[in-house]
Amino acid sequence: MSDLVRRARAVAKEVAARHADAVDRDARFPREAIAAAREARLLGAMVPRDFGGESAPLAEIAAVAQELAQHCAAAGMVYAMHQIQVACLVDHGQGSAWHRALLARLAEEQLLLASATTEAGIGGDVRSSSCAVERTGDRFALTKNASVISYGADADGILVTARRAADAPPSDQVIAAVLKPDTSLERTNGWDTLGMRGTCSTGFQLKAEGSAEQILPQPYADILARTMLPVTHIVWAAVWLGIASNAVARASAFVRAEARKKPGTTPPGALRLAEAVAMQQEMKATVLAALQRYEAARGDDEKLTSLSFGIAMNTLKTTSSQAVVKIVNHALLVCGLAGYRNDTDYSLGRHLRDAHSAALMVSNDRILGNTANLLLIHRDNTGLLG
Ligand SMILES: Cc1cc2nc3c(=O)[nH]c(=O)nc-3n(C[C@H](O)[C@H](O)[C@H](O)COP(=O)(O)OP(=O)(O)OC[C@H]3O[C@@H](n4cnc5c(N)ncnc54)[C@H](O)[C@@H]3O)c2cc1C
Repeated sequence: MSDLVRRARAVAKEVAARHADAVDRDARFPREAIAAAREARLLGAMVPRDFGGESAPLAEIAAVAQELAQHCAAAGMVYAMHQIQVACLVDHGQGSAWHRALLARLAEEQLLLASATTEAGIGGDVRSSSCAVERTGDRFALTKNASVISYGADADGILVTARRAADAPPSDQVIAAVLKPDTSLERTNGWDTLGMRGTCSTGFQLKAEGSAEQILPQPYADILARTMLPVTHIVWAAVWLGIASNAVARASAFVRAEARKKPGTTPPGALRLAEAVAMQQEMKATVLAALQRYEAARGDDEKLTSLSFGIAMNTLKTTSSQAVVKIVNHALLVCGLAGYRNDTDYSLGRHLRDAHSAALMVSNDRILGNTANLLLIHRDNTGLLG
């Protein structure tokens, strides 16, 4: 295990776990876990060494998200969403002095970044914006009716998608990195949800202004295809694997406790546990395969923008978001009432509620629809190794 993942495990077990139920109950930001992650320098780990970070590969970042999510899914998801923004800056910001300075600050100050893609009236279609960047000389201003910005109130900065200019079509988008001192957030709705309550994904009327340099030079479409889409699906899947892994760990502990009560017998739930472990193993293999595929494609434009890569990443999202629900359900069958109750060491209610967010975080139907379109033109690729 790398030093980074070891630090993450300590934060997860010693801090995130302790506060997870309160974070969920009160739908509050996992401030203790994120403060501990900051202290352990987990937030800026992906920033290249040249800028003061650790140049951590995505596999390690995903492993950190998985560790945190095992003990507090909201903390894991906050970490994952932050890293998606960092990855965009690492891959697409190094050509601009403003973003290079931001990368250095991310490492030095362990800043936390949020994301505002979802917009009122547009929903989860990330490839469409209604708001637009308004440029005046070398300055810009932006107003976005962002229906969901996770931990917006606690973030140090937000990456916001918008149309390139007032006369640009909805799909001609850019990303602007806006920082807290230059941004006003007026709450437009709350976040009293079934699960992922600690992500505090409130709606805001976002108003920001700054230097035009804060707008990433590449079009959003390019950043999305090359970085945001694969990184998002990989780190989200890692969070969901964390939820599933902890559910299986609870089921396993339950079966062992039952076995101790009646030595020499195999508890009836052991069979379901074996099934749950198999599903968890399959899910883990899916995440690892996607990670390998991403690392092999990184820096290779042709591979990153290929139909097969897009289909693979879409499929990672749709399958892992369903797998987590199935695995938690199975763990619940193992633990029975002890899992159904909210006051035992085997409680699984929070896991199940958190797991159900997975299919909605960019609707699976939207993603399946996109995959279906890609499959119309994609030639079958049935080989084991590619
Ligand atoms: C925990 C959590 C955290 C989030 N954090 C953020 C964040 O920080 N920043 C951010 O910008 N967003 C965030 N989101 C929003 C998320 O990324 C999606 O945009 C949002 O969940 C989609 O909301 P929706 O289901 O209302 O909208 P839609 O995607 O519009 O879907 C509405 C319904 O229409 C159906 N539908 C819509 N379009 C299609 C289609 N083309 N094909 C088939 N069916 C379709 C869907 O199945 C769904 O039932 C978060 C969401 C969650 C759950």
